[in-house]
Amino acid sequence: MKLARAIVIFATLPLVAALGGLLMIVFADETQWGYDGDQGPERWSALAPEYLLCGEGKAQSPIDIRDAVAADLVAIEFHYGETANNIFNNGHTIQVDIDPGSHIVYNGIAYDLLQFHFHAPSEHTIDGEAAALEIHFVHKDRNSNNLAVVGILLSEGDSQNEAYAPIFDRLPADVSAPEATGEPLALDTLLPEAQGYYTYQGSLTTPPCSEVVRWLLLDTPLELSTEQIAAFTAIYDANARPVQSLGKRDLLRDAR
Ligand SMILES: [Zn+2]
Repeated sequence: MKLARAIVIFATLPLVAALGGLLMIVFADETQWGYDGDQGPERWSALAPEYLLCGEGKAQSPIDIRDAVAADLVAIEFHYGETANNIFNNGHTIQVDIDPGSHIVYNGIAYDLLQFHFHAPSEHTIDGEAAALEIHFVHKDRNSNNLAVVGILLSEGDSQNEAYAPIFDRLPADVSAPEATGEPLALDTLLPEAQGYYTYQGSLTTPPCSEVVRWLLLDTPLELSTEQIAAFTAIYDANARPVQSLGKRDLLRDAR
């Protein structure tokens, strides 16, 4: 009896740990953190024990993209459908939560699209240059806690970006809960046609800075109008973590 109970407990522990880990990654928001002053990026690792990697990690994100090594990489297979425009302001960024069904396949692994959100200015820089904004499409491996994040740089162009208009017309200025607004979004229209990319192994760019992310940064930026960019920066104009050292990691560029 005792033995059986012990076995049940031990068998359950990894599941509990795995779920706990996932919850940490997806909902890690207990401790207050921000982008300046006492709660800024330089202080994240001191704010809570579970944020230690933000200071001690050796595979952190974002990074400055330079001297990427050309390599024969597989394509990112996008299987994006429609989703309600579940947009909200989570206190750190504007986010859209995704209805189930959209995913990517990368190196034979399926990753479900969970949400996308924005940073201003861009978190990744290219040869030291930041873009106006960066969007992160956050995907999770169905069989592990590993994430694949597709990043796209958004720069200032001459005209309104129609695909992004349903989002940038509805940016909630105040902290809010997810709310379906307007027409459904056709997610594939949010991607550039050219899908060459840079890739490296890194982390969440927000606490707890977990080092579980395969970064896939598309090398073709999209353009938004001055007004669209201003609509975002009126709410968040400095929600980008500074670049981290690449260290010993490989930074590859798709050679296609
Ligand atoms: Zn992000």
